Amino acid sequence: MSAGTPSEKSLKKVQKFVEHYWEKSGTFPHPDKGVVEVVVNGLAQHLDELGKPLCPCNFYPDKKAEAEKRTWICACEEMKEYKYCHCLLFVNPDGLPITEYLPETHEGRLTYGLVKDPTPNKGRESTKVTHPNRV
Ligand code: SF4
Repeated sequence: MSAGTPSEKSLKKVQKFVEHYWEKSGTFPHPDKGVVEVVVNGLAQHLDELGKPLCPCNFYPDKKAEAEKRTWICACEEMKEYKYCHCLLFVNPDGLPITEYLPETHEGRLTYGLVKDPTPNKGRESTKVTHPNRV
């Protein structure tokens, strides 16, 4: 676990990405700026440590191996498919994660109930592109 402060360079990169991704995905910053700060810092620390913005809100038995996969690189697969961010970085204007597209048994749905997508025309990019290898 890396502790301490991320480099200014990584912090800037992550901040820029996050700003862009709120707009692109039709999500909003959490009203509590402290939430945004903690997640952005965590992503930037991973960028310093692993060269990738690995999601800071999970435990990984092997971070390096995990960073080789796409699953939890921000924006993670859950975000791209379900528009759900369990770190609360990309949320609705009330600071709640969007759960509308999650499977009903997913823990996000069980925790937050049904939270509708305020901008259904944006985000969920992995459901909108054609994957030639997808069956
Ligand atoms: S849950 Fe996904 S979208 Fe949210 S911060 Fe983590 S990697 Fe990024």
